[in-house]
Amino acid sequence: MPASLEEFISSSTADLLGPASDRRAPVDATLPLRLVASAELSTAALVALVSDAKGARWVVPIHRDEHGFHRARPGDGVAEALVNHLSSPLEHAGTGFRLTSWRTGSVAGERAIGVDQTNESIIVGDQVVVKWSLGQPSADDITHPAVPRLHTLADAGFIGTPELWGLLEWQADSSSSPLLIADLTSYVDGAQDGWEWAVKDVVRLGLGELDMDTALAPAKRIGMLTARMHIALASAGIEHATQDQVQDWKSRALADLARIAAELDGPEGERLRARVRAISTAYDDFASAVGTPLILIHGDYHVGQILRFGNPHEYLVTDFDGNPVVPAHERAAPAPTAIDVAGMHASFDHVGRIILRHNPEVDADLVRIWIANAGPAFDYEYFDTLARMRHKGIFDERLVRPFRFQQEVREYLYALDHLPLWRYAPDGALIDLIPDQEEP
Ligand code: ADP
Ligand code: MG
Repeated sequence: MPASLEEFISSSTADLLGPASDRRAPVDATLPLRLVASAELSTAALVALVSDAKGARWVVPIHRDEHGFHRARPGDGVAEALVNHLSSPLEHAGTGFRLTSWRTGSVAGERAIGVDQTNESIIVGDQVVVKWSLGQPSADDITHPAVPRLHTLADAGFIGTPELWGLLEWQADSSSSPLLIADLTSYVDGAQDGWEWAVKDVVRLGLGELDMDTALAPAKRIGMLTARMHIALASAGIEHATQDQVQDWKSRALADLARIAAELDGPEGERLRARVRAISTAYDDFASAVGTPLILIHGDYHVGQILRFGNPHEYLVTDFDGNPVVPAHERAAPAPTAIDVAGMHASFDHVGRIILRHNPEVDADLVRIWIANAGPAFDYEYFDTLARMRHKGIFDERLVRPFRFQQEVREYLYALDHLPLWRYAPDGALIDLIPDQEEP
């Protein structure tokens, strides 16, 4: 039996690093592992930050019993120990861990959240979700996007996200950015995410079981929710885009466009190439956006991030981890609100495309009308809420179209790199956004 946590970590394999119920490929780590830091939550519950021989880092919840240490599984009580720690400060001198709490409570019992996930979320006492941020950046100067966002939303009193109970962070030293180790939020019982509820709604519309107004109501609610989220996020400060930044948006968007124009084959490739000029022209609007307002935004905004629950329906925004396709050192930086608006528009469109492709039994015309109206329904409430709350200035409408094209291009990139079939979604979207193009 290893005598110390250091020995346990250094004698462990990469199995230590994956979630408890992992259905994915094993974590890619170069042994041996090394303990970077650890915090004791109770005698039986610890959390460790571990690095491999190449400096990659992971968070590992650890359980200790009479046999020694092992990786915690749901039911071992490590997430529960963290929740119960919210009432006593965890500011261990020297270890670098800091636990901030907005709400405390005594809860018991753990179970896995049981959906596909990138991290490892444990439901504690049917009240709190503890999400361990398993994979960590290897550099200490990278801010986790969720840290400033969750702090800002909680401090601004934003109620459109599951209530924040606490954040566990770790900081190497006072000059480095804190890592997010875990976040603790209220568990929303019976919640569905939008890839589930929105698809079901629009199928029902297409079957005549739901009328158009009812099917468009969620887009309006999300427009209002998004405005309130942006106003809350803007309380952290407003910056303005520099010449270098807007040039950078344009050159990166053009580089992605050039790649798909070169690599996309078949009729979708032809249709895309026929639209390259129109897309490039829209990207010119980036260059004229010097001075446009930048705030903390959601960054990875789509219907899948909107939980719906209750009757009548309520909607909450989740997942402030930022956009995985944006370079890590930029994910936390302020950005135009139009990125979130364009992201949500694209996802409404893709909900419709999924149904047009997979549900031949529905009335396709109704689905097309829904696609054409979901974005405008969102916009109306988004803009109206910003105006009523005296925050029109945080939204630059001109940037929605170029960021929307960039999002569709990223969908093609995702198809090229991961899921070839998915090209039908951006293809359908671009045909409607840029109609009647001559093929070159
Ligand atoms: P990951 O980064 O691991 O994908 P997410 O934050 O996106 O984690 O959450 C994964 C899923 O867990 C969500 O799609 C949602 O279904 C569910 N979920 C997340 N937070 C909550 C919550 N507070 N209450 C209920 N379910 C949640
Ligand atoms: Mg997610």
